[in-house]
Amino acid sequence: MPELPEAERARAVVEREALGRRIAAVDDADTWVCRPHAPGEIAAALVGSALTTAERRGKAIRLQTDAGPALGLHLGMAGRVVLVSDGASHRWDRFGLRFEDGATLALRDSRRLGRVVLEPDLEVLGPDAAEVGRTRFRAQVGRGRAPIKARIMDQRTIAGVGNLLADEALWRSRLSPLRPAGSLGTDELDVLRREIRAATRNAIRRGGVHTGDLVAHRRPDGRCPRCGTPLMRAAVGGRTTWWCPSCQGEPVDLPPA
Ligand SMILES: [Zn+2]
Repeated sequence: MPELPEAERARAVVEREALGRRIAAVDDADTWVCRPHAPGEIAAALVGSALTTAERRGKAIRLQTDAGPALGLHLGMAGRVVLVSDGASHRWDRFGLRFEDGATLALRDSRRLGRVVLEPDLEVLGPDAAEVGRTRFRAQVGRGRAPIKARIMDQRTIAGVGNLLADEALWRSRLSPLRPAGSLGTDELDVLRREIRAATRNAIRRGGVHTGDLVAHRRPDGRCPRCGTPLMRAAVGGRTTWWCPSCQGEPVDLPPA
């Protein structure tokens, strides 16, 4: 599932391929992906404009235009952004911006869980997980009784961390995913912030969150790639979670996996 690294990759595609191109037509016929907009509403707002900037906060992307409103993109569970130069459409293309030169920027999404919206409100999200400063991270993340894994996946706390990135960053930090967030000390929070950033950078460089060092071992016979201990599994914050009981600590009460 797309997390911050995949969203950053999509943002970079737009920045590299689509800025400055003038929009000639918009395919906004998918009323589910484009909700709450009616068919033609996004087209009417954007045709004639050009994209000027591509920003991202967490998993949310916002494209500014020179003459119209901003356009928000969210990749959902399986979406990606592609530039199609020959005008050929794909059956999984749920939304498209066709430019005057004939190229199309498409949201290609097999699951149809991505979103496209005018004037997206990114302020509902916490600070970007790859950009958040140390002081803000300590204040946002290091409180409450929720498990630390659930806390860092809460997009209002920090934005961009999903299930795989959370497991990877906690394993790198040698922190149990089940520790209450408020029980972490300042040093532990600083390590966690650093490791979220490092795991994110690695994922961007290697091509996605699935390339994490722990991720390949998240399976029933999986062992810790650092110490060889069999990994443990439980449901944390409603998501399947894997961790090393030796490196990260074993909780007393396990919720059912
Ligand atoms: Zn280990």
